[in-house]
Amino acid sequence: MLKFLTRLGFGERAPEYPHLIDLRGVKKAYKTDAGEFLALKGIDLTIDAGEFVGIIGKSGSGKSTLINMLTGIDRPSEGEVYIGGKPIHKFTEAQMAKWRGREQGIIFQFFQLMPTLTVLENVMLPMDFCNMYTPRGRRERALELLDLMGVAHTASKLPTMISGGQQQRVAIARALANDPPIIVADEPTGNLDSRTARQVFALFEELVAEGKTFLMVTHDDDLAQRVGRTIVIADGQIVNEWLARALPTLSQDLLVKATNRLVARTYAPGEPIILQDTPADCFYIITKGQAEVYLQPPNGHPILVETLNPGQFFGEMALINGGVRTANVSAVRSNPVEVIALDQPTFVEILEESEETQQIIEQVAAERRRFAGVERAPLADALAQQSSQQP
Ligand code: ADP
Ligand code: MG
Repeated sequence: MLKFLTRLGFGERAPEYPHLIDLRGVKKAYKTDAGEFLALKGIDLTIDAGEFVGIIGKSGSGKSTLINMLTGIDRPSEGEVYIGGKPIHKFTEAQMAKWRGREQGIIFQFFQLMPTLTVLENVMLPMDFCNMYTPRGRRERALELLDLMGVAHTASKLPTMISGGQQQRVAIARALANDPPIIVADEPTGNLDSRTARQVFALFEELVAEGKTFLMVTHDDDLAQRVGRTIVIADGQIVNEWLARALPTLSQDLLVKATNRLVARTYAPGEPIILQDTPADCFYIITKGQAEVYLQPPNGHPILVETLNPGQFFGEMALINGGVRTANVSAVRSNPVEVIALDQPTFVEILEESEETQQIIEQVAAERRRFAGVERAPLADALAQQSSQQP
């Protein structure tokens, strides 16, 4: 496929924009009869070149509004949108249309093909509009793309004469016409039967494998499982991705509740995060760096029981037992560690509302308790022996 699809990024970017897509504090207010409605409540989001991102969330949660901020179809009321280092929130309409035509391929739920143009003309349209390739090259390219999508035989037909699955393939060919580095799809399989949906999704996977950056809003849970990264949007906010991944059994409402109460903290190399035998106040998830779990025997050296990596959580044991900390946890000596912390009342509250999550957390805690207990006895014995052998 690569012969037709070669543009994968935007070249050099200024160092202050290291990400391909960078949304900063994006808010979107709609005026309604009942007053202002905040459809996006302050979105911070970065996406890197080559990522395959699924955007999921209930109907009305703000998925399309978010997508429209990225395509420039709509504009934020507040905040900034940088794509390829360019501030697209500042573009004029004319700049936006030209930029979008070259840099993004957009795929919609209802295909949005021009009903009076043939399939071939529909695919040529973006090239004509942006004056890409030669007129003859456009025709060739459109035919090749239609062939790639398996619908070359429909080239001279009108969109209404072909099936929904075929129309979506044509729409994908059209999205690829100008070889854009970014492809954005809003519920692209929402109007297709499940078999056709899987086939279309397989085409998307191929595009990602070729190096395209792909953002897809989807209602389809099965497809959402198969993308590289899932963003959950609820009530105009993005649920913290670390939290959603660490506690995947939480409902979207509980994820939002917890997200709003998360606090990010950084600990210096070697700095303690949790001290054994002190009261418990937070639940932690590591987002960067590593932390080490130590047991402190009553009279002996601390024993390293576990090294924790990004995505792993800790601090759950004492919170669910309501007791004191059973171990020390500190940042590794070599690097700082970044965590998100959830206060005990919120943690207890969300576990009370999600039995499944509670069970999983209890299992992890039991596993750790057992592991620490087993490790502790022989090591402590060995240490005791060692010290008794010393003069
Ligand atoms: P989703 O795509 O997740 O279903 P949308 O982004 O379309 O949700 O909409 C988010 C919220 O914003 C909804 O409550 C919707 O009713 C509201 N909304 C969307 N567009 C408009 C508009 N043009 N005017 C007023 N409200 C809107
Ligand atoms: Mg929508």
